[in-house]
Amino acid sequence: MSEAAVDIRDIIARKRDGAELTPDEISWAVGGYTQGLIPDAPMAALLMAIVLRGMTARETTDLTFAMLDSGDRLDLSSVPGATVDKHSTGGVGDKTTLVVAPLLPTLGGKVPKVSGRALGHTGGTIDKLECVPGLKTELAPEEFVAQVTRIGVAICAQSARIAPADRKIYALRNETATVESIPLIASSVMSKKLAVGADAIVLDVKAGRGAFVGSVAEARKLARAMVEIGAGAGRKTVALVTRMDEPLGRAVGDAVELVEAIETLSGRGPRDFVNLCTLVAGHMLALGGVTADAREGRAMAARALRSGVGLAKLREMVVAQGGDPSVIDEPSLLTKGAAFLPVSLDASGYVSSVDARRIGEIVRDLKAAAGERKSLCGVLVEKKVGDRIGAGEVVAVVVVPETVPAEPVERAKAEVCGSYRVGEAAPRRRRLLAAVVRGERPTAHHPQMDADGR
Ligand code: URA
Repeated sequence: MSEAAVDIRDIIARKRDGAELTPDEISWAVGGYTQGLIPDAPMAALLMAIVLRGMTARETTDLTFAMLDSGDRLDLSSVPGATVDKHSTGGVGDKTTLVVAPLLPTLGGKVPKVSGRALGHTGGTIDKLECVPGLKTELAPEEFVAQVTRIGVAICAQSARIAPADRKIYALRNETATVESIPLIASSVMSKKLAVGADAIVLDVKAGRGAFVGSVAEARKLARAMVEIGAGAGRKTVALVTRMDEPLGRAVGDAVELVEAIETLSGRGPRDFVNLCTLVAGHMLALGGVTADAREGRAMAARALRSGVGLAKLREMVVAQGGDPSVIDEPSLLTKGAAFLPVSLDASGYVSSVDARRIGEIVRDLKAAAGERKSLCGVLVEKKVGDRIGAGEVVAVVVVPETVPAEPVERAKAEVCGSYRVGEAAPRRRRLLAAVVRGERPTAHHPQMDADGR
């Protein structure tokens, strides 16, 4: 596309008016923004137009490849065995990567994982992992691949070399209320997954109050969009649509979630979280060809979690990335300097809902008030949906650095109360897994892909 012929305002206006953008327009806008030639304001306007008007499957694929091509593709060909990646579209209390990534290598899978930071009301794996003193999340591609080869797992932040366009657009979306969009989420996730280039990809697509898509029907559409991009790029891809109405597990917040991940790897995780971890791990093992099917993979993962082998692998990963392993041996060190403030309700009965989005927002707002020690902020959801409570019983705990002023803490406690609903009858239990969406047989048919799909 010739530079002189293009004006970002025309592209914004076309999308605003519902037109389908051309591949050239998409790659010009993404390239221009990544190189700093297009400022934040028009890019934010284009993103908002995409949120409101959507994108066709062709536009979404072109956006994915424009972001993928803004950086390098890792070469995992030297890694022996099956490489399996996973990604969640974002939920509250979602620390699954911290459990599943170290568990897989103990069962025969290798996990090269590029993770993100907090987005909207959801936390980020990298922020949680960085609670380990000294741990490095910026790994050069060569270091990352060498670590996966040597110990079977590495979790690193998205560097300037892996889909840098997504990195910049992700940060802008976080500032401009443009996160909730199927094409933007699908292209963001898949540009990173294709840049890493694992043989198989398991996607956890969240649906519900705490997710970026509210309904299972919308989550299915997002899942379908992503598996089609993955299959089109020659990757074995499966998406699990899972419910995210109440927070996952008990802990929400960076340090407390890492503590819960360690407890889970020690065989002491909360039931709903263990369920999700074994579900995701089971599909990863099956898709990577380690087990015949996901059911067998799940049973293997459940046994491994109970045995504690994954914890030793997490420790090994922490050491490999320069972190202090004493926090893995003694997780209470992670919340040193935090105050734990109980929250109780006057009502008695059964917990019928805990609003995950609100809990995520409470933690986000506490972090904004906490300054440097923001990783200590969190909420422990002690009573979950279906639990019986008596009047005055503690239902949750607000966790803050001891230095945080009283006002935001009192507000957080009141907000936590407001996020609970209590009824007289026990609510109907809903299954965690709402749907499994599989790709067609992978084919490397996208014109920008080499024959081997890299
Ligand atoms: N995770 C991502 O990587 N991108 C999104 O847009 C949402 C979740």
